Amino acid sequence: MSLTPIRSKNNFLVFGAPAIEDAEITEVVASMKQGWLGTGPKVARFEEAFKQYKGAQYAAAVNSCTAALHLSLVAAELNAGDEVITSALTFCATVNAIIHAGATPVLADIDPVTMNLDPNQVEAKVTHRTRAIMPVHFAGRPCEMDALLDVAARHRLKVIEDCAHAIESEYHGRQAGTFGDFGCFSFYVTKNVVTGEGGMVLARRAEDIARIKVLALHGMSKDAWRRFSDEGYKHYHVVAAGFKYNMMDLQAAIGIHQLQRVERYWQRRREIWSRYQQAFADLPIVRPTEPEPDTRHAYHLYTILLDQRNAGISRDQFLEAITKHNIGVGVHYLSVPEHPYYRETFGWRPQDYPAAMQIGRQTVSLPLSARLADRDVADVIAAVQEVLSRSNSS
Ligand SMILES: *Cc1c(COP(=O)(O)O)cnc(C)c1O
Repeated sequence: MSLTPIRSKNNFLVFGAPAIEDAEITEVVASMKQGWLGTGPKVARFEEAFKQYKGAQYAAAVNSCTAALHLSLVAAELNAGDEVITSALTFCATVNAIIHAGATPVLADIDPVTMNLDPNQVEAKVTHRTRAIMPVHFAGRPCEMDALLDVAARHRLKVIEDCAHAIESEYHGRQAGTFGDFGCFSFYVTKNVVTGEGGMVLARRAEDIARIKVLALHGMSKDAWRRFSDEGYKHYHVVAAGFKYNMMDLQAAIGIHQLQRVERYWQRRREIWSRYQQAFADLPIVRPTEPEPDTRHAYHLYTILLDQRNAGISRDQFLEAITKHNIGVGVHYLSVPEHPYYRETFGWRPQDYPAAMQIGRQTVSLPLSARLADRDVADVIAAVQEVLSRSNSS
């Protein structure tokens, strides 16, 4: 193995550092020597492998999860004024994709324990203009899909799952990303399987994935790489105003080998997750709740909540103190209405989504990469304990 060091030169532990191993390095180099960098046979192989892993019938690889979400919404044929309900606690890309598809985003609050969309809050936001729900499987914990699918069925809504955290997630024996009309995955550098930048769409209907493949490459009616095969020149025809969202073979070369290690990496993150759970049991913080029965958590994020009244230190002071201990941390996320663009454009106010607001103001994500050595995990634990004990003794 030729794992790159997870520590930077000044010994800083980088948050979300990916595990890159020899197999993908060799595969990328082979692609480069062969001279086929763009969309080609390795993308097709990666799509096949991903379908097999997820037990899905139709898949299209794209260059990000953001692209996957956007294409799914376009393929769902939303019109201007159509409303799409999503979580108030998600990455901005989820909301931006709805806006770029020409629809109107509507936020619903989360369940403060699971941090996932609260199905009752979703139901309360349904109007005669609602066309779709976009659940986000937050941190890798699957959403309450039974209840959400029930809301969707009763109001005849499309379901587009944001599975950026949820490659390995399962709910009642079924894979995340296979409940909805579309399931969208990310292979960004910090995610559970990486290709650098990259994404995947799963769809339940063949015609949906065919349309997404056309839209992902300029709206051209033939896969471009087949145009240059030895079967002779073939004209392409533009049948839609498409996008430039295709995945490269260089990216798929990484993904093919990453996906073979998805379960090994999952085991490692689960181990780190439970080590944190034990080590922090007596600290004045809120730890993540254990996975629900008959579900599989993807362990993408390990998030703690700091309430200054209990912890003796504010969330932002904690972020600063732990960074001084050379531990890279993240915030997932400030609630969507905290950001000025959405406040100004849609008039959203953080206090109208109190659960998402509170989590967004108290949450800290600790390192959970499969790349962490036992020593790194021990360092994280020691730093958290030290920062909290100091702030309580002072
Ligand atoms: C990372 C992420 C995205 C976007 O993924 P990209 O592949 O970077 O476009 C979307 N939604 C959520 C919840 C994410 O965490």
